[in-house]
Amino acid sequence: DALAVREREMVERRRRLLGPAYRLFYADPVHVTRGEGVWLYDPEGRAYLDVYNNVASVGHCHPHVVAALANQAGLLNTHTRYLHDTVLDYAERLLGYFPAELGHVMFTCTGSEANDLAFRVARAHTGGTGFIITQFAYHGVTNAIAEMSPSLGAGMKLGQGVYRVPAPDAYRNPDQDIGRIFAAHVRQALAQMRADGVKPAGLLVDTIFSSDGVFADPPGFLREAVEAVREVGGVFIADEVQPGFGRTGDGMWGFQRHGVVPDMVTLGKPMGNGHPMAGMVARPEVLARFGERLRYFNTFGGNAVSAAVGMAVLDVIEREKLVENAATVGAYLRQGLETLAQRHALIGDIRSAGLFVGTELVRDRATREPATEETARIVNGLRARRVLISAAGPAANVLKIRPPLVFSQENADLFLAALDEVVTDVANGSSS
Ligand code: PMP
Repeated sequence: DALAVREREMVERRRRLLGPAYRLFYADPVHVTRGEGVWLYDPEGRAYLDVYNNVASVGHCHPHVVAALANQAGLLNTHTRYLHDTVLDYAERLLGYFPAELGHVMFTCTGSEANDLAFRVARAHTGGTGFIITQFAYHGVTNAIAEMSPSLGAGMKLGQGVYRVPAPDAYRNPDQDIGRIFAAHVRQALAQMRADGVKPAGLLVDTIFSSDGVFADPPGFLREAVEAVREVGGVFIADEVQPGFGRTGDGMWGFQRHGVVPDMVTLGKPMGNGHPMAGMVARPEVLARFGERLRYFNTFGGNAVSAAVGMAVLDVIEREKLVENAATVGAYLRQGLETLAQRHALIGDIRSAGLFVGTELVRDRATREPATEETARIVNGLRARRVLISAAGPAANVLKIRPPLVFSQENADLFLAALDEVVTDVANGSSS
């Protein structure tokens, strides 16, 4: 039909205008013109259930956030080299969600910039250059951070002083103390640094290990590794770009589940509900040396409109009790997936914290052989039913289920029913 023809033209136009580095989701790309709550709409008004967007975390186009943005844009939008209250009010409110040790916040526009700043601060504070990351991490796009993001693809070369450790995977290390295993790998990496004459700077992890395949349990498994890094003078940087702002359901930040207080915390994605804003929260003593020797100016980071938007996002999280919703709907969704797992041998493992859910698909529960092709068919089969998710992990066999936090039980039922049908089709070998 005419729309399908136009969409093929759009794909071609993208290639021509945007070049070869971009990737679309899905074999049959989704063309959207409008969003509201957990729904995205195509040009013909058909609704897609969004079970994937952690950026539009308080719901697509939330009216309170949109109004705050429009109001502030009509009043003043300038940067951090003028006195204005918006950024101070927001900083104060945001820091109120952190342990008292974390006393400063700096603003950037992207999670990548936040990690890049944390990287520089860690080097200045420790005098070291060695960083530990996980095997299939993603932390961002700047040169230094891309070289700490092995999930970018085969063309990714690890940076100098960057050491990788296996993610804390309790599924493939059953009946073992995963915190101990993770710490042992971190100690091995630190020993390798010593052997290479590299002074440690820090450990940087996504506290929900999203791109590694989503690893949430047992809470506390990060503690020993963090201690090991601190013993040799390194810092712990918690990348909260994915789990932050209430998604894990038991608090605002993923690190809290592990009973650790990071030296620095990086924020992004849901912070502005789609408006490009991000930040880095730090212990004052960690930031001191960097701040004494350098000035920091990020033209758009901490501008008045971003601050107003960030404030409005926090309002919605509070007013609509979204942390609680992440916990209750997350538990309900997990229960539903466990019921499906009783009927579908393809479901090998379900891992979750709140509304961050990973579901690992395997060809054989005994060998845990990744069901990579089946996972792609399921993601595309759901898309054909207008239900949007994606896949994660080194073998791309983990369903990444990560809806806006306003997701309801009714939405979860819709998702589970669609997943049940699609998994049945894929298991039967019918095209989905
Ligand atoms: N850290 C993590 C864990 C991320 O998932 C991402 C983005 N996918 C980033 C950092 C980088 O954020 P941004 O794309 O805003 O630069």
